[in-house]
Amino acid sequence: MQMFQIKAFDLEQSLQEVTERYEKEKHKRRALHNSLVELRGNIRVHCRIRPLLPFDTAAGHTIPQDRQRNFSEKVAYAADDETVLVKCNRPGHASINKTFQFERVYNASESQDTVFADVAPLLTSLLDGYNVCIMAYGQTGSGKTYTMLGPQLEENFAFSTEDESELGIIPRATQEVFSLISEKPPGSYWVEVSVVEVYNNEIFDLLAKDSCGRVFGIKRDVVTTREGKSDVPLLTYETVENISEFLHLVNKGLQLRVRHPTLVHAHSSRSHLVVTLTITTIVSGDNFGISWEDELTSQKLNKELFCTFPQKMRENKSTFSSRASSPAQFETTEKPKQIKTRLQLVDLAGSECVGMSGVTGAALRETSFINRSLSALADVLGAIAEQRSHVPYRNSKLTHLLQDAIGGDAKLLVMLCISPDQKYLAESMQSLGFGTRARQVQRGQVKKKNLPVLSKAK
Ligand code: ADP
Ligand code: MG
Repeated sequence: MQMFQIKAFDLEQSLQEVTERYEKEKHKRRALHNSLVELRGNIRVHCRIRPLLPFDTAAGHTIPQDRQRNFSEKVAYAADDETVLVKCNRPGHASINKTFQFERVYNASESQDTVFADVAPLLTSLLDGYNVCIMAYGQTGSGKTYTMLGPQLEENFAFSTEDESELGIIPRATQEVFSLISEKPPGSYWVEVSVVEVYNNEIFDLLAKDSCGRVFGIKRDVVTTREGKSDVPLLTYETVENISEFLHLVNKGLQLRVRHPTLVHAHSSRSHLVVTLTITTIVSGDNFGISWEDELTSQKLNKELFCTFPQKMRENKSTFSSRASSPAQFETTEKPKQIKTRLQLVDLAGSECVGMSGVTGAALRETSFINRSLSALADVLGAIAEQRSHVPYRNSKLTHLLQDAIGGDAKLLVMLCISPDQKYLAESMQSLGFGTRARQVQRGQVKKKNLPVLSKAK
């Protein structure tokens, strides 16, 4: 008996050792993979499989007859933290298991905390001078808005900020940006926010105000600047100083977001939402001894450097249009400069097939616009992957708006959201295919805007 106990103890110990070694190796492999992703300019793809939910069964009557069933059957699983396993069991066919690999796969029980922990390093990159874009892709009801914003309030479509553990990537990322900034010298960084919706291939500024100061959506256009960047002239940017100002602002904008309840999910959003945080760094003449990565970057940056003081320093607080800031008067001879980096957070509209949602009329038109913009996104990725000389960014407002992020100027993370139920199998396979293709795109090394190292004065 004692012998068995000793043997069991030995086995347990060696198992523990092997597990520890495995974890260490996994970390090493992840770090190496990460460096490879950086060098190739690959798009990172994470995949989140949401839990089965009551409406998975309730929506049964709205889908084509061959998919109708009044029970839920889970067919998409996280096989491990890098693999999705899908059981493809169509009637009359032998069941096949398909697997898909991504940088990270979250199972249904993984929390908003866990998802954000993997996103947080990108925010450090943001303050180090990289542009960053995080976009959620998936069919309606697959958890995009939950992942990006958090659970939504029933009554006004805003998102709930009551329970912090439920908050999604957008509020957490903003909180993290403020926390990173608080470690820098006061006044050296500041944050502006814009909230844009792309609906029926039109761009709406959700922070624009009317003459009485009430927020209402105004149509804007996206243009390509002489430097080849995409820009939205007259877009409203508001300066925010803390997370509660940010939440208040975004929630106000969100209430204007166009929605049309599809039968798949009653609170579905029928538009793409792009929340952008622009981080401006003030660099004084002394700090500006920067070694530029190359001449081109230097020239590019010189065009982006404005000799202006931050908005907050000029006046107490106001809304303003981004590129229209007036020149400031300096009392010192040394000219502070500004460098801007951008964090774009995108909640895409649902990627489901038209027939699936049971929509007709105006809603069908919306869906076809959504489908067209999402295929434009796939076409753009395809053109970059094949290194074609022409990338069709301008085929859709969505791709034109996100051109700089998709085309290589930003670290890009696609958060694929998957509904695990059998009846959404076709949509899930489509999303997984999109994610797989996105991972293969090589954009070349992502450029960094070389910022001086600023540390808080002791
Ligand atoms: P989408 O934006 O893709 O249309 P939502 O984010 O609105 O989908 O999610 C649909 C529903 O599922 C919402 O009620 C949401 O709260 C719920 N949900 C989504 N993902 C999760 C999750 N990981 N855990 C719990 N509930 C979730
Ligand atoms: Mg949504």
